[in-house]
Amino acid sequence: MPIISLRRPHPRAARRFSWIYHRGATDFGRMTSLSKAFRARLAEHYTVGRPEVAVAQASADGTAKWLLRFADGQEVESVHIPEEDRGTLCVSSQVGCTLTCRFCHTGTQRLVRNLGPAEIVGQVMLARDQLGEWPAPAEGRQITNLVMMGMGEPLYNYDNVAQALKIVMDGEGISISKRRITLSTAGVVPAMRRCGAELGVNLAVSLHAVTDELRDRIVPLNRKYPLGELLAACRDYPGVHNARRITFEYIMLKDVNDSPADARELVRLLKGIPAKTNLIPFNPWPGAPFEPSTPKTIDRFAQILNDAGLSAPVRTPRGQDIMAACGQLKSASLRRRKTRERETELSAP
Ligand code: SAH
Repeated sequence: MPIISLRRPHPRAARRFSWIYHRGATDFGRMTSLSKAFRARLAEHYTVGRPEVAVAQASADGTAKWLLRFADGQEVESVHIPEEDRGTLCVSSQVGCTLTCRFCHTGTQRLVRNLGPAEIVGQVMLARDQLGEWPAPAEGRQITNLVMMGMGEPLYNYDNVAQALKIVMDGEGISISKRRITLSTAGVVPAMRRCGAELGVNLAVSLHAVTDELRDRIVPLNRKYPLGELLAACRDYPGVHNARRITFEYIMLKDVNDSPADARELVRLLKGIPAKTNLIPFNPWPGAPFEPSTPKTIDRFAQILNDAGLSAPVRTPRGQDIMAACGQLKSASLRRRKTRERETELSAP
C-alpha cells in the first residue's frame, strides 16, 4: 500500500514524513534516522512509489510535460511552467473528466476514475525527482506554486484533493503555502465553501460566459449550478477579501464571448466580489469547434475590464508546441465498461 499520511504527533512519524516529503527518499532502507527493525517493518507493509513517466516532453519555452502512468495503467498529465520569479506545477485530479466543456480537449475524454491522494501528491514528488530538487531548498525552488488546473474537476474529487493538498501545504513536508496554491473549478457550488474553509487555497473559477444561455452550452455544468448560484458562492467564499481575490478565468473564443458588450456585462456581474480576471486565449487542439480571439479583440476586452478597475492580465500560452497549454491535456486512458456504474458515484459532489 502506498504511504500517504504518516503524521505527527509521534516524533518518529515526523521523521518518516520528512524523509519522504522533504528529502524525497523512496527506499525505507535509507531512512537512517529510524531503527533498522522499524525500517524493515515499514518496507514490509508500505511502498513509497512514484508514477511511471510514460512520456516526457520539453517545450521550446522551457515548459515540461509528463504523461504519467499509474499502477493500473491509467494515465494523466502534469505540466511544469518555469517563469523568472517562480515555477508552477499544474497537477491533475482525475483521469478524464465528467464536465465536457466544449472548448477543452480533456473534456472529449470521459471520466475514467478519480485520482487518489497518493497519486495527486505523487505528481509533485515525481516533478521534484525530474527537476532534481531533493531535499527541497528554502530558496530558489523550481516548484514554488501549484495549480490544480490539470485534467479533471478537483471539486468532484474533493476528499482526495483535500488530503493531498494538506500534505503539500505541510511545513515539514512539501511545504508549499496555501497562498501559492490555486484550485480551479468550473463551479461545483456545494463544494466551494468547504474548499475555502478547510483548505484556504486560492480559488479560480472558470467562468467563460456572462449569460446562462451561452454558459449552459459551453460549460454544461452551468445547467446544474447556474451563474447566479455560482457568483453567490463566490461572494461567500471563506477568506475572500481584497488582498485575496478570486480569479475569474475567461477563455477568449472568437465571435462567441469576446464582444465589448460581453466585457461590460462581466464587469457588472463581478461587482461586489473581490475579483480579478484572467483572460485565456483559446488554445486550439485537433478538431476543436472554436477559434482563438484576435489579439486586438483581447486587448479591447481587457481594456474595458481595466477601465472598470478590474485587473485583467492575458494568460500567455505556455508549452503550446507540446500540447501542454490549458485545455490541451488528454491521455489515451480509456474507461472500461465495468467502471461505468462506479463513475456515477464518483462524480457526485
Ligand atoms: N475543471 C477545472 C480545472 C481544469 S481546466 C476547471 O474547469 O477550472 C483549467 C483551465 O483551462 C480552465 O479555466 C479551463 O476552462 C481552461 N481551458 C480548458 N480548455 C481550454 C483551451 N482549449 N484553451 C484555453 N483554456 C482552456
